[in-house]
Amino acid sequence: KSKDLKGYAPICLGLEDFYTRRLYLRIQDCFCRPIASAPDAWFDVVDRYSNDNNKTLHRTSNTTKCLNLGSYNYLGFAAADEYCTPHVIDSLKKYSPSTCSVRVDGGTTNLHTELEELVARFVGKPAAILFGMGYVTNSAIIPALIGKGGLIISDSLNHNSIVNGARGSGAVVRVFQHNSPSHLEEVLREQIAEGQPRTHRPWKKIIVIVEGIYSMEGELCKLPEIIAVCKKYKAYTYLDEAHSIGAVGKSGRGVCELLGVDTADVDIMMGTFTKSFGSCGGYIAASKEIIQFLKHTCPAHLYATSMSPPAVQQVISAIKVILGEDGSNRGAQKLARIRENSNFFRSELQKMGFEVLGDNDSPVMPIMLYNPAKIPAFSRECLRQNVAIVTVAFPATPLLLARARICISASHSREDLVKGLEVISKVGDLVGIKYFPAESPKL
Ligand code: PMP
Repeated sequence: KSKDLKGYAPICLGLEDFYTRRLYLRIQDCFCRPIASAPDAWFDVVDRYSNDNNKTLHRTSNTTKCLNLGSYNYLGFAAADEYCTPHVIDSLKKYSPSTCSVRVDGGTTNLHTELEELVARFVGKPAAILFGMGYVTNSAIIPALIGKGGLIISDSLNHNSIVNGARGSGAVVRVFQHNSPSHLEEVLREQIAEGQPRTHRPWKKIIVIVEGIYSMEGELCKLPEIIAVCKKYKAYTYLDEAHSIGAVGKSGRGVCELLGVDTADVDIMMGTFTKSFGSCGGYIAASKEIIQFLKHTCPAHLYATSMSPPAVQQVISAIKVILGEDGSNRGAQKLARIRENSNFFRSELQKMGFEVLGDNDSPVMPIMLYNPAKIPAFSRECLRQNVAIVTVAFPATPLLLARARICISASHSREDLVKGLEVISKVGDLVGIKYFPAESPKL
């Protein structure tokens, strides 16, 4: 009703200040946009992160620091790592923050080639290519790999960067039910007759796109079963490991390692450097032929300024720590720690009676709130007690499946986690989101 809304109106009227920030529905076309804010209920502007691997953050509106349970800093490499940071500072002095050039015209430093080789070795593929942003890696690579005459079959909960890449490719896009190999098979069967070779069917090529760990669900991909279906119908597999690379697997090599999948069975392995590696950028790892093809044809490689050298150095150093090539066993300790922390936190939340989505070993832990009206209260009360937790709602989730999403880090100590659990438990009682009796097994 307000003049400011200009045709946009909050739906589910009366749902408190959540709607003043996040959810606005343009009745005609369902576009969403935020128009105002509720400063005490959200993270607002972060003044600085502490020198403790991003474990605490300082909000400008609040002088106290918050325990950070919202960052993707899975291995604790973000900010002030004893091995990475000095190397990053050196690279800043040597190469400057930006190459100010595209890869093919002076924007390739020896750090870029070193990281491409290291990523390929780390994820277990013959070659890799870097991009300045994880989001762009999906949205630009998918159209470079497939176009008109091709078919993309995408998990229904794939990230927006995949959705945009698929839509922009010109290929026909079909969606299969989240993490359901049997529905994937149904969709594939509808599109082609079983057993035909790649060349004798209505599609030039078929790519099936999935994620290693789903970012809003905390759930591991059913990768072995998905790959079996792809092989049966001769479709290519594209795996986004944004949340799984570095975070799971005995040596941090992601869901393939965790689930015992041969990386030769995944055609395109995509990942970002913004989570486990504490940096920016993204990669594609694949066969030498695919990477060579992308280097010659992908506009985001040919026309975009290359990845910032200090960001590249951060990833090189982080992978060296993970592989133990820094001369310490910190990498192995971090990997053990994130697994231990994640499994401890998840089981404690379940014992308290919360409905927690996702699988063991996954550091992504959504607590279901359901009713979006509970979001501001949950977020505000946690922040008041100096715990920062990300809350997510429509359009990132279905309208009535709002949730708080906790991300666990190897840098959290047991005391941090216990403090977080105490606050979440109190707030959970206050907001009324303990849907199961305490100590009851998960349904
Ligand atoms: N893929 C997935 C699954 C993601 O969750 C994200 C962002 N969180 C991206 C890609 C984009 O990565 P970035 O934030 O590094 O641009």
